[in-house]
Amino acid sequence: MIIHWFRRDLRLRDNTALAAAVRDSGGHVVPVFIQSEWKRAHRWTGAPRQEALCGAVSALTAALVKAGSRLIVRRGEALAELERLLAESGAEALYYNRDPDPFGRAMEVRVAVMARRLGVRVAGFHDVAVHDPESVLTATGSPFRVFTPYAKAWLRTPAPEPLPAAPIRLHPPPPEMKSLPLPTLADWGLTSTAAILEPGEPAARRRMEAFFSGPIREYAALRDLPAAGQTSRLSMDLRWGTLSPRELTQRCRQVVRECRAAAHRQSVLAYLNELIWREFYLAVLWHWPAVLEHEFQPKYQGLPWRPPGEAFRRWCEGTTGFPIVDAGMRQLAATGFMHNRVRMIVAMFLTKDLHLDWRLGEQFFMRQLADGEIASNNGGWQWSAGTGADAAPYFRIQNPWTQTRRYDPDGE
Ligand code: FAD
Repeated sequence: MIIHWFRRDLRLRDNTALAAAVRDSGGHVVPVFIQSEWKRAHRWTGAPRQEALCGAVSALTAALVKAGSRLIVRRGEALAELERLLAESGAEALYYNRDPDPFGRAMEVRVAVMARRLGVRVAGFHDVAVHDPESVLTATGSPFRVFTPYAKAWLRTPAPEPLPAAPIRLHPPPPEMKSLPLPTLADWGLTSTAAILEPGEPAARRRMEAFFSGPIREYAALRDLPAAGQTSRLSMDLRWGTLSPRELTQRCRQVVRECRAAAHRQSVLAYLNELIWREFYLAVLWHWPAVLEHEFQPKYQGLPWRPPGEAFRRWCEGTTGFPIVDAGMRQLAATGFMHNRVRMIVAMFLTKDLHLDWRLGEQFFMRQLADGEIASNNGGWQWSAGTGADAAPYFRIQNPWTQTRRYDPDGE
């Protein structure tokens, strides 16, 4: 018997560690999810992302029942709960997909020590991105600091294929293993504040199909127009692992191979490029975890930011008087999402017009976004502030008025 520890991989299809556990145990897998309590007080915790998590876990539960199993939910510190679960189940191994952020990585080290003490085998798998951050490196074996050469190397690296789509079958966990109720927002003392997209693997798959059957054809032309609403809206799914990045990439490559219309192919390549940005920022965080505290470029550490006050409050509420900034901030509050073009505009407005520390915006976004992803969010903020890896230079400001004229001329 093998425990599969679900973390940010809340799907059954093309789930690397889960598939390995099924294969190695003949389907005798105990699927567990551990709800952490410490997040209740964390500066990055907000309702939209936690609501997405709750919905994804709920959908996962239903999928596991269909697969013949049931999800064992526990609450508390992962290390102690996993030790308890190993004792209760008598499992001989613990499998999980590795977490690229420093908090998840630190926990994995402690879990490995605990498992060694118990004599239990542990296996961590790379799953969160198409390419492991250690496998896309410069010719001299260093991580990339600049996107374009990273993207070229990424495209040259042979991509792993998604696993076959056949539904998995599992044996149920031992009947005496108890599960707590599914997580709810109230567990973190939160209430729903935004109308987020439907979370979970089935909804994610519907979104992917809808995007690939239409909007992706015009992605290159329309992706920068906030009012067009023609982007994939799959960021929340990639954040919680309700879709596999390998599957998305494979779909892109398939269209590029088969499609005769050059514009369609160009659009798919433009989309793939955005997926590569995601992996670039995951790699930056992996190789330089200090970006969560400091500017990536040392020369910009210690900038004299203004103290937050009225200006920050107005930015947060969307009452700056700059229509495109306010529209973005209100979209964020209402839906837990903001279009990428507008994310850049509001981020540059905060840092380069109001001269407020990018970390304030980073934190606010993490609390408000359903797709809040430490790596992309930090990357996007440091890019906008001009302090990051391959960032917009400090003197480049996306002026809200010229941006509006260009991308939203009718103020839609
Ligand atoms: P699409 O245009 O359909 O793009 C496809 C996918 O590519 C996205 O789902 C996302 O996974 C990835 N992607 C697209 N653009 C970027 C980018 N610039 N950087 C990294 N990945 C990208 N994205 C997050 O997922 N979580 C965040 O917390 C986050 N914070 C951001 C903060 C700032 C200040 C900025 C400028 C950008 C941020 N982004 C973040 C990137 C981007 O805005 C969102 O990924 C995108 O708007 C999601 O919408 P979509 O799925 O429709 O994107």
